[in-house]
Amino acid sequence: MKKILFATSEAHPLIKTGGLADVASSLPRALLKRGHDVKILLPAYASVVAKANEAGVKKVAELSLSGQTINLLQTRLPGSRVTVILVDIPQFSEREGNPYCGPDGSDWSDNHWRFFVFAKAAEAIALNQANLDWQPDIVHCNDWQTGLIPALLAQHEQKPASVFTIHNLAYRGLFSYQIFAELGLPNDYWHHEKLEFYGQMSFIKGGLAFANAITTVSQSYANEIQTPEFGCGLDGVLRARRDDLSGVLNGINMDEWNPGADKLIAHNYNRRTVNQKIKNKTALQEQLGLPVNEAIPMLGFIGRLVDQKGIDLILNQMNQLLTHDCQIVILGSGFASYEQALKNLAQQHPKKVSVTLGYNEAFAHQIEAGADIFLMPSVFEPCGLNQMYSLRYGTLPVVNAVGGLRDTVFEKPFDDIGSDGNGFVFHEATAEDLHAAIKRALAAYQQPEVWKQLQQNAMSQDFSWEKSAERYEEIYSAITA
Ligand code: ADP
Repeated sequence: MKKILFATSEAHPLIKTGGLADVASSLPRALLKRGHDVKILLPAYASVVAKANEAGVKKVAELSLSGQTINLLQTRLPGSRVTVILVDIPQFSEREGNPYCGPDGSDWSDNHWRFFVFAKAAEAIALNQANLDWQPDIVHCNDWQTGLIPALLAQHEQKPASVFTIHNLAYRGLFSYQIFAELGLPNDYWHHEKLEFYGQMSFIKGGLAFANAITTVSQSYANEIQTPEFGCGLDGVLRARRDDLSGVLNGINMDEWNPGADKLIAHNYNRRTVNQKIKNKTALQEQLGLPVNEAIPMLGFIGRLVDQKGIDLILNQMNQLLTHDCQIVILGSGFASYEQALKNLAQQHPKKVSVTLGYNEAFAHQIEAGADIFLMPSVFEPCGLNQMYSLRYGTLPVVNAVGGLRDTVFEKPFDDIGSDGNGFVFHEATAEDLHAAIKRALAAYQQPEVWKQLQQNAMSQDFSWEKSAERYEEIYSAITA
């Protein structure tokens, strides 16, 4: 049994902007189930405090840092027995909306301070100096918001081992030298092998330089980030630490994303009753005002509308795609230019394209259940969850062969699908290659036997957290041995 402090800036269902929240909820639960003593450390954002109040929250400690009082609150992750410690400062708890940026989409100007304080709270807990009477064996950090934790811990002799997991290397947590000086970090940390990144300070480098083990969320992404193409300028650091870097594929929450019991969808179905899936498509067509027709293939997309997700590839092949008999259902939010372009498309083609802007968990489930084909043409994708949800729902994914997409989706010739073929894969991130893969998907859809076989393969895959949790256990053991 290990005592694990799991530091994260998001955890579903308390706060979520992306896949990190899903991981930070599922992995601690899986570790708890396997007998470990896990506590999640999370910022006390306003929306989190509101939800925590429903579950019960109490103040358990108070720290002080440069005149700033930090309250530590304790609650539970709703629907589980996992303890959550909230780091409560006004800069977290008195602000509504997105955890990282204001209503205009630009980062909160004091993000460096907010996540520095968060790291200091983690440091105090890790060293058993937070009056919690609990010291972890492992501090598991996630993404740039927690990058300073291993760096702070490195200053101490007696400290827990640290793991740093990269969920997305593109967010490096960059700030000026002036901020580095203001935070009072050790002078020798201003070095390219520590926190300095081409004249700026990078929070994520704290994790990459100082953690005992580095992991990322798929084996392919672990390889890719050691190359200049995918390394975001950090490939050199990662190559230098290749012996400490491993890829562990994320699992998914198999209870929440289960077409057999999903309460958010119109009709439940499973692998044996997959022919019932079509009722979800007609329900969605009705709901969205699209022509109701079982035979028309429906393509779905859910995700952040940012460059990473290949939205421009989707847009650039849209004219060709619209020549086919199909419907396209999109849910997402992000860059204003993508939102506008998609809205325009939906207005021009109301019988074929439906675009919903915003974040909507229930609707995401309905698209996964209703669509036949799921588009995920990401330019890079550390792991990706939506393609795994799609596979589980028998909604066959069309993906670019990068990161976790490459590790979970496999295309085989129609006459040799075997037990592996479960989707459609292209290898160059271009609109032409995406369109060619969509055409192969549409052709397969016209062959019911082929389609059924692909769906059976997809729905048979095991994406439970058990395997991944076991891998993390091995890593924890190796660094505490
Ligand atoms: P990323 O973490 O890069 O955003 P992932 O595929 O790993 O991508 O995870 C995205 C998660 O966020 C999934 O659970 C997906 O269903 C969810 N999601 C993204 N955008 C939306 C949205 N607009 N509405 C509902 N859920 C969304």
